[in-house]
Amino acid sequence: MKTIIISIQVPDGVNVQVSQGNGGTDRPFVSRPDPPDPGGYCPIHEVGWNLIPAGVSRKTNKPYNAFWTCPEMGCDQKPQMGRPSNVIDMTSHAGPPDDLPF
Ligand SMILES: [Zn+2]
Repeated sequence: MKTIIISIQVPDGVNVQVSQGNGGTDRPFVSRPDPPDPGGYCPIHEVGWNLIPAGVSRKTNKPYNAFWTCPEMGCDQKPQMGRPSNVIDMTSHAGPPDDLPF
């Protein structure tokens, strides 16, 4: 096994954590610009989406990117984002065949 020493300069006050491969579920945080307004509204509360600015979670102490969500407390509805608009609807091809025997 080789040991590689990497020096990283970090501003004061920034907490650096290095995970040793166990688990592997901790993905490195990638900062992204604020997402654009998705339009629309929460289908349950019928109120427009609320932009939550990027920050650090008080629960997990992990940074997160800005995201749109329902302003109602406890509502887990989110706008449909990050999907291509030209999704092919496969359900229209999965209907019953035209040549039904009756
Ligand atoms: Zn809602």
